[in-house]
Amino acid sequence: MMTAPYEQYADSRDVWVFAEIQDHERVLEGALELLTRGRELADALGSRLIALVFALDAEQYLPAIERHGPDAILCCSHPALKHYDSQIVPDMFADLIAERRPSIVLFPSTEAGCDLAPRLAQRFATGLTSHCTDLSIMDHPDYGPGLLVMKRPAYSGNAIATVICPHARPQMATVQQGVFERRERDDVATDIEMLPFSYDLTKLRIESLEAPLRWDKPKVPLEQAPVVVTGGRGLATKKNFERLFELAELLGGEVGATRVPVFNRWCGEERMIGQTGKTIRPRLYLGFGISGQIQHTASIVDSEIIVSVNTNAGAPIAALSDYVVTDDAGVFLAKLIERLRSEKRG
Ligand SMILES: Cc1cc2nc3c(=O)[nH]c(=O)nc-3n(C[C@H](O)[C@H](O)[C@H](O)COP(=O)(O)OP(=O)(O)OC[C@H]3O[C@@H](n4cnc5c(N)ncnc54)[C@H](O)[C@@H]3O)c2cc1C
Repeated sequence: MMTAPYEQYADSRDVWVFAEIQDHERVLEGALELLTRGRELADALGSRLIALVFALDAEQYLPAIERHGPDAILCCSHPALKHYDSQIVPDMFADLIAERRPSIVLFPSTEAGCDLAPRLAQRFATGLTSHCTDLSIMDHPDYGPGLLVMKRPAYSGNAIATVICPHARPQMATVQQGVFERRERDDVATDIEMLPFSYDLTKLRIESLEAPLRWDKPKVPLEQAPVVVTGGRGLATKKNFERLFELAELLGGEVGATRVPVFNRWCGEERMIGQTGKTIRPRLYLGFGISGQIQHTASIVDSEIIVSVNTNAGAPIAALSDYVVTDDAGVFLAKLIERLRSEKRG
């Protein structure tokens, strides 16, 4: 009798999340969000949620991870893991997958996640869906129960692709920060398993001496900022763009950007909002000189109030905006800063 393809994976049920550490300082917000959704997926499958952390002094991150509901944490702590290393971590991760056979492995869509996930997908000859915007579980008449359903934008954001991976395991996805909500819970008992560090460091072809903290890191992650003032091409110069920081400070917010200022090196890529950047839902989004292409606006639509400033009253962003200002972005920005300053003084 022929075996249905999925039956080979009947023993492969757990959901794993790469609990990435950011700037050797904290657990990445996106990893905690993935744990929250991972918990729901594991519950739907009747399986276990496992978090994996590889870091220097990794024990310090365990309480934050535990609060997000994994059944177990696999933790490896070693000085060689101070920075994500694209030789050590994929090798260690691959050994664990080969030994323990998870059904699903999820990664944040970060530099590290987007380095690690494809390396693993290649080693296990399995599929990887990047930058997913939704994950759920379905039973399929041909491919069996418990399949991961991955949704992601396609055709420059003009369509949503629904992807499954019926013939290989693990099923793998990367997800951008801000896509899922993060929730703490206290109803799951978490086992901690400390893994020995047995990697042969003499195998390394490249040695990471230091990874700089990112120079332009927002003080508050953009996904959590109540106000995001965002600049686009219409601001025209780096000097104009930098005035956004003054406005953000006055409003108690953060600075975001479309892809254009990032490419022009007016700011770092951690400020990019959109399909290949962050997804935000602030109380107030203020957009200066932004046209409103779908790759940007898909990630701002959940903002409570959207205000746009553009010389072209018919720019697509106007249709999304609660308030539209038809003016030169640099001039209006300067006037607004001046007005807020004088109100503060008064
Ligand atoms: C696969 C893919 C992924 C992408 N991912 C992202 C992403 O994650 N984030 C992102 O932002 N983009 C992304 N893009 C790019 C995106 O398609 C747009 O090109 C980009 O968002 C446009 O940025 P913008 O609005 O700053 O510039 P433009 O589209 O060039 O718009 C500039 C606007 O400024 C206005 N303007 C001009 N002069 C002035 C002035 N003096 N004062 C006021 N307004 C003025 C113009 O009327 C215009 O509306 C992606 C594209 C692709 C193909």
